[in-house]
Amino acid sequence: MKVPLLDLTAQYQSIKHDVFPVIHSICESQQFILGPHVETLESRLADYCQSPHTVGVSSGTDALIIAMMAAGIDQGDKVITSPYTFFASAGSIARLGATPVFADIDPETFNLSPDRIQDVIAGMNPSERFRTKAIMPVHLYGQCADMDAITNIAMSYGLMVIEDAAQAIGAEYQGRRAGSMGDYGCFSFFPSKNLGAFGDGGLVTVRKFDNFETLVKLRVHGSSPKYFHSLIGGNFRLDALQAAVVTIKLNYLDDWTCRRQENAGLYRILFEQAGLIPRITLPVEKSGRHVYNQYIIRVPEHRDALQAFLKQKNVGCEIYYPVPLHQQACFRYLGYQAGDFPESEKAARETLALPVYPELSIEQITYVVDVINQFFREHTS
Ligand SMILES: *Cc1c(COP(=O)(O)O)cnc(C)c1O
Repeated sequence: MKVPLLDLTAQYQSIKHDVFPVIHSICESQQFILGPHVETLESRLADYCQSPHTVGVSSGTDALIIAMMAAGIDQGDKVITSPYTFFASAGSIARLGATPVFADIDPETFNLSPDRIQDVIAGMNPSERFRTKAIMPVHLYGQCADMDAITNIAMSYGLMVIEDAAQAIGAEYQGRRAGSMGDYGCFSFFPSKNLGAFGDGGLVTVRKFDNFETLVKLRVHGSSPKYFHSLIGGNFRLDALQAAVVTIKLNYLDDWTCRRQENAGLYRILFEQAGLIPRITLPVEKSGRHVYNQYIIRVPEHRDALQAFLKQKNVGCEIYYPVPLHQQACFRYLGYQAGDFPESEKAARETLALPVYPELSIEQITYVVDVINQFFREHTS
């Protein structure tokens, strides 16, 4: 049997009849940039994300950048984020000339730990504290960070909150949706996200109308009206074609999310039946609706050998992420050392992503568990 980590072709078969006529009509109109399809998507996602305003943009990375530009994050400022995330979270901070300041993760959820944020702020001198402008929690793998605690810290120090919700569309923290809790929420329509385009795309959710207006300007080089520039923005525009595809897929998203959750539930039953715990540990659902962009197990011993074995047995799997950001070569100038964020470093040694996409069959999930079971029987006999 073959079980890829992600197979988008099945999803495509189920939506292509909806998508083709819309693509055709956009091609006939030759109106490719922004326009009504982007506006429709923005308003549908404002509802879906429980957010008053949204701005469609060119990618998830650009969502982070434009949100921080609108937030006034500038050269020399500091933004607190997780060292255990996709590169873009911290990369976008650095690209604005600001400094990513890392705080370690909660080992159960892999999300930014409020206690570690407190420690980091407590260790700052007054001028460092003054330059700290925002906290960027990342809702990793599809589960929200501990947002009550994080927004409380942000309020007590006067910091903005910019949610990196790229992996977490529709995820909830105590009934509130990802992207609705911070000042800004940043989403990605990269094809492997739960709501993916046929290319790149992204979206920013924003709470205040003033900030929404700033984002709309920044998206088109800071101009309003056209050719009059009050701000230095950029080209952060979303294509009509991408917006139309994402709008169609949005009709299916809750269904797909349910299937991901069911797949996670089946893994749990099968792993427990096979007696594989605690050789591996399973995802912990802590705060509400987990949308399982990734299904991550921890493998404290033999992780790399297990990964090789799975690949040999035609099971797709991946390590998200093998090198925490404070240990990346490009961030050496930040001066962090190995050992600075022990939970992130441990996660990088232990985590393994297994297939969880909606179209997986029961037989495929059973096969993945059987292969893992076989690996441990051979390794421990
Ligand atoms: C995918 C992702 C991004 C970047 O999104 P792109 O659309 O690929 O630019 C940012 N942050 C996280 C956590 C992501 O997973």
